Formats: sequence, C-alpha cells, structure tokens
Amino acid sequence: MTDPRETRNLSCEQFQALLPELIGSGEDISLHPHMQTCALCRELVSELETIAEAARQLFPTVEPPDDLWQQIESAIPKEEQSSGDGVNSAEPAMKAAPTSTGKV
Ligand SMILES: [Zn+2]
Repeated sequence: MTDPRETRNLSCEQFQALLPELIGSGEDISLHPHMQTCALCRELVSELETIAEAARQLFPTVEPPDDLWQQIESAIPKEEQSSGDGVNSAEPAMKAAPTSTGKV
C-alpha cells in the first residue's frame, strides 16, 4: 500500500499529502497519475491553484510560507477519511440543565 512506486494507486489522502511538495517543486501536477484518474483531486487542485495564485499576487516577492500550505491543507475537506475513530466533535455541552433537582 505504501510502496512509493505505486504512485498510480495513491489514495486521495496520500495524494493530497504530497500536494505541497509537488506544487513546491514546480511539478506539473496535472500530469500526476492520480490526477488522471481522480476527478475529485482534479477539482481540488484547481481550487488550490486558484488559492496559490491569489497568494502569489498578494505576496509577489515572497515565497508562500510552509504554514500557508498547512492552512490550505487543513482547509481541504477530508471526505475520503472515514472518521469513526472516537472523534466526538459534536458534543451537546449546552444541553438543558436538569430541572428535576427537587428545587423548583
Ligand atoms: Zn483523488
């Protein structure tokens, strides 16, 4: 699964993890094998390129810092991940307080 030669069979997650490197190295991402097979990531990359282009125009003389990519990465919807590993984000903390405490 993690054979580096199996670039054609990257999961979306793996491919997206490589994106900052691919973009940073100046590769033509559209030529990446995963891009040929995955419409989802094609869309994603085109969005990322839009963001990157905007960033370049904002900071024409400055290289996008690494944490910019981290921000972009964290903004990527993790639809491919099956989040069932005990990540309870929606916890009803504001649930109505019990009224039946005997003091009404
Ligand atoms: Zn993909």
